[in-house]
Amino acid sequence: MTPKHDTLIEVKDLSVHFPIKTRKLFRTEVQMLRAVDGVSFDIKRGETVGLVGESGSGKTTVGRAILRAIDPTDGEVIFHRKNKGDIDLAHASEAELRKVRSKMNMAFREGGINVHNLAGDLLRAFRPEMSLVFQDPYSSLNPRMTVRDIIAEPLVASGKFKDRAKIDARVREIAARCKLNLEHLRRFPHAFSGGQRQRICIARALVSKPKFVVCDESVSALDVSIQAEIVNLLKDLQDEMGVSFLFIAHDLSVVAQMSHRVAVLYVGKFVEYAPTEKLFFAPKHPYTHALLSAIPTADPDADFDPIRLKGEIPNPLAAPSGCRFHTRCPFAKDRCKTEAPAWRELDTDHFVACHFAEDFNFDRHQKASQSGPKGAV
Ligand code: SF4
Repeated sequence: MTPKHDTLIEVKDLSVHFPIKTRKLFRTEVQMLRAVDGVSFDIKRGETVGLVGESGSGKTTVGRAILRAIDPTDGEVIFHRKNKGDIDLAHASEAELRKVRSKMNMAFREGGINVHNLAGDLLRAFRPEMSLVFQDPYSSLNPRMTVRDIIAEPLVASGKFKDRAKIDARVREIAARCKLNLEHLRRFPHAFSGGQRQRICIARALVSKPKFVVCDESVSALDVSIQAEIVNLLKDLQDEMGVSFLFIAHDLSVVAQMSHRVAVLYVGKFVEYAPTEKLFFAPKHPYTHALLSAIPTADPDADFDPIRLKGEIPNPLAAPSGCRFHTRCPFAKDRCKTEAPAWRELDTDHFVACHFAEDFNFDRHQKASQSGPKGAV
């Protein structure tokens, strides 16, 4: 994908592999768990990209690797600055990186930073640019800290804010934007409902005015009515602050409401990435089509007949050869078992990894078997 002038984050061939040691009689074997395997995409300024897939597909690992919460095995994450050329720090030495630190603002003005080459103080200085909202609003708040201290924590940790009055002013500003009362700031987390706690988490994530936030299943633990409130709050904050979101979820209807583009992940690889409308109404990958068929409809008379994929999602320790979806795909042919499909742009901004994507003409309300290519097994 070629970066466009409004690109904020560019992810290139990102891979995260975890070595797993298994003890056998007299020897230790090391297997590689390929949680994420060569993922490429971009996120624009002020855009929300939804990331969907079954449990264990690697969604959270993608989000955390972009934030450098875990170190990737391979690939790059380039953070771009507005309308300027890029600075590639990919091969800079430690000494050169240290020099860049003093010119951090200059570097940002002039171009992009490869997040995966930042370390130590340089990484700490960069942290406020990106943030995370966790799934569980109960366990992600320290019960011994007041709401004021929880929200202020990123400012204090960054070391950029020493003046308490300035910190308090910023905390009050973001709390008001997240629809929290000033009196809430003196209380402890146990005094709040799930929805209010998630507002506190969002305020903490946005207090340092980040350009990019990963929302990792951030509404999954909430009641449906509260989910709608939080989604609306995130959209309002995006309009006001121009922040970009990576919105990780397994509830496709919430992803559709929230996202401008959506990526579908299967066993550590992207299978489809497209603008939300295209992906929801004209998917080109059989896995996307199967996921969409499982979205319940509010119309009691509508035909609801979700596609039931055979078997379970494969273990990433032993990912299938060729197309990773071939063990469950209703349209798999012999070629799919041996040859991995290329990641290609089928239509403007519509990327897919399937040998036969052109042959499919899925409709949201059609069964997969009605529209697959001839000769499917
Ligand atoms: Fe199915 Fe083959 Fe396409 Fe994979 S490449 S999704 S197995 S048809």
